[in-house]
Amino acid sequence: MIDALPEKGVPAEQVLAELRELRGSDLPTHGGRLFAYVYDPALDGLDELARAAHAISSHVNGLDPTAFPSLLAMENALVGAAARLLGGSDGTVGSVTSGGTESLILAVKAARDAHPEISSPRLVIPSTAHAAFAKAAHYLRVELDVVPTKGLKADPQAMGAAVRPETVLVAASAPSYAHGVVDPIPEIAALAAERGVRFHVDACFGGWILPYLRRLGADLPDFDLSVPGVTSISVDLHKYAYAPKGVSVLLHRDEALRRPQYFAYADWPGYTMINPIISSTRSGGPIAAAVATLRSIGDAGYRDLAVSVQEAVSILAAAVTETDGVRLYAPAETSVVCLASDGVDLFVLADELAARGWHTQPQMAYGDFPPTIHLTVTASVRATAPSFAADLKSAVSSARARGPVEIPQLPPLTPEMITPELIASLAEGLGLGGGDFSQMAAVNSILNAAPPALREALLTGFLSLLQRPTAL
Ligand SMILES: *Cc1c(COP(=O)(O)O)cnc(C)c1O
Repeated sequence: MIDALPEKGVPAEQVLAELRELRGSDLPTHGGRLFAYVYDPALDGLDELARAAHAISSHVNGLDPTAFPSLLAMENALVGAAARLLGGSDGTVGSVTSGGTESLILAVKAARDAHPEISSPRLVIPSTAHAAFAKAAHYLRVELDVVPTKGLKADPQAMGAAVRPETVLVAASAPSYAHGVVDPIPEIAALAAERGVRFHVDACFGGWILPYLRRLGADLPDFDLSVPGVTSISVDLHKYAYAPKGVSVLLHRDEALRRPQYFAYADWPGYTMINPIISSTRSGGPIAAAVATLRSIGDAGYRDLAVSVQEAVSILAAAVTETDGVRLYAPAETSVVCLASDGVDLFVLADELAARGWHTQPQMAYGDFPPTIHLTVTASVRATAPSFAADLKSAVSSARARGPVEIPQLPPLTPEMITPELIASLAEGLGLGGGDFSQMAAVNSILNAAPPALREALLTGFLSLLQRPTAL
């Protein structure tokens, strides 16, 4: 337990020691064994550089770029670099946001507010689009039209057919997070343009690696602003640009497209508020750290990192292909390895892999998609990948021996029945009371069997159980 407001201040050394101890219980952010959440290039000295840059600008406030021109210069540099990498041209403009979710919310907001005459605006996405679009639609009260995919990729014809007079935005992924496949962007862009609707490419995940994979010869479609009809694109610098958390870039083809993204308000006694993004006050730290990261790695460095990712992906994909009991679920064409079961319980397998130090991300069944295990592969995995095959084989054989987990008999539940008391007793019964999340197969099996609305209610209840203030 940490007392965040001690009676008397605590010496710096002690504070830092406490933080380091707390960090000890986290999953490993470095070392190429965590396949979600973190992006590690394994470059000597880069962490120290980013940390120092963060410290230089951490107290600078992005609220007003005229007061802090350093931040304006750094943001313009990041937007310029992203535009150069992603097919931008002279008119391209953009914003630096705090992350992919914020970039997508703002792309939807700009599209919605470009059409004040449409009273119930709609957003068309493929079913594989990131959940952040649903969040944007929810926050902004935009109706979501989710279009089934053809295989794992967006179906351009079906998406075109889903466009209605109220549609303000069409979106697709390059690549999708769950499977790492690139939607047919040129075809969708053409259909959106024909209908006069904005088209956003969500390259939050892979926007900083796809250009390099393509340069290295990967057979991937055009996906960026060079494609006519693409009106905006987002790329997270805290993913494959390997910057510390808190930085994404949203690009628009031109200034007119960006304008409705701004919020302006002069009708109060304080300063006139002009915000291109959701937050007002924000730290310059992440932005400075991103600039330092990009400048330190450079274009040639990102190319080399993409080579490492490509090699690591091939090694991991081969391990999956060669192991009885699992199979590749999606073509490993970018930076994701996504595997499905061929006779083994995937949730037990995920626990067995974790027990061997490989932290993967289970994905639940969805529509016709079976449960899968997702691996986000970053450059640091190049060094660890060769030892994956043996552990995968042994994890599969242990998972086989254990068989599927037995799910406790639960009464039929509906989302309305989920109370804090029920969640607390379920968590206790499943052994989650003590904060040990290493045995998740039973939990994941229950969640997998639950329809989406029930799964949402269960997990919301569980998180809200965890998110309680430290005892007073
Ligand atoms: C990560 C991701 C997002 C959301 O980004 P956050 O930075 O987590 O807010 C959106 N789209 C895709 C494809 C992503 O991978």
